[in-house]
Amino acid sequence: MKRKVLLSLGKRNFPEDLVEVLRSSAEVICISPSDPGYNEVLKGVDAVVVGMETIDEEYLSRAPKLKIVARFGVGYDSVDVEACSRRGIHVTHTPGVLSAAVADLTWGLILTLTRGLVDADRFAREDWVKRTSRLPFGSDLERKTLGFIGLGRIGSEVARRAQGFDVKLIYNDVVRRPDVEEDLSVEYVEFDELLREADIISLHVPLLPSTRHLIGRRELKLMKPTALLINTSRGSVIDQEALAEALEEGWIGGAGLDVFEEEPLPLGDRLAGLPNVVLTPHIGSATVETRRKMATVCAENVKAFLEGKKPPNLVPEQRT
Ligand code: NAD
Repeated sequence: MKRKVLLSLGKRNFPEDLVEVLRSSAEVICISPSDPGYNEVLKGVDAVVVGMETIDEEYLSRAPKLKIVARFGVGYDSVDVEACSRRGIHVTHTPGVLSAAVADLTWGLILTLTRGLVDADRFAREDWVKRTSRLPFGSDLERKTLGFIGLGRIGSEVARRAQGFDVKLIYNDVVRRPDVEEDLSVEYVEFDELLREADIISLHVPLLPSTRHLIGRRELKLMKPTALLINTSRGSVIDQEALAEALEEGWIGGAGLDVFEEEPLPLGDRLAGLPNVVLTPHIGSATVETRRKMATVCAENVKAFLEGKKPPNLVPEQRT
């Protein structure tokens, strides 16, 4: 009997020609988690390709035949890997192919904040000619210190892009990266020292129990009052209530955020009312080219499984 693949991503994320790749060895059912027929389909599938939906014990209990969860993305905090491993279910992700896109967005947030581009855009449309406010001034990046918390694939790509700016680079990571230190002139510093020294802090850690609220009141208070905090990792790496307070009270200078504790960001959220933040709706990997690369990697993982081979991008916990 033909095996079944549930694909919860629409055509924009998973182009038809890649769906065809899977169709050559399985029946592919494209259905969104909000569709009323989803649970019925889930009962009979061998593979799921998923976005940000939570894959926990409860989900798995509704999918008795499931053998592989292919996550469309590199972060897999939404998947209970232990529960999957206990049931002999593979978990794969899409590392590397989205690092450049996320690094580009990170720089977009840094430059938008330092040069006040959102205010400048508004000014150019109206105030410039009306002269109802003064030309906004930004600040230079030159000679500033950029601090990375997490210098893995994405953090390193951000550091690589920093080579064109005259900035000092420092980082903290639970793993030392001597190759990157040398290659990109990034200096390792202790966590608190990074918080105290950096003019811009960029977060690139996965969401784990150890990184949940890594940045809270204590950490925000250690930062410079002019410091900018950039988060393109996961919302819950920051205690968002504490961050809103820090921005309101001027403990730090500003923040550029692509990810939030609750997504979509609720209407009327405190952060949305603040002038010193730039917000983007979790678009780190959202480019046409990168989404296609991610879909290709997902298809390769599922295809390998369907052919009885080891999927090439198992999450680290399953790579033994
Ligand atoms: P990676 O595994 O290559 O790098 C993560 C780094 O964080 C590693 O070097 C690791 O040692 C370090 N780390 C772990 N715990 C730490 C801690 N407590 N303190 C300091 N460093 C710690 O992962 P990556 O590919 O660079 O991706 C990083 C994260 O970015 C993903 O897990 C995902 O959550 C997020 N992400 C977001 C988007 C987006 O759309 N905004 C897109 C892709 C990835």
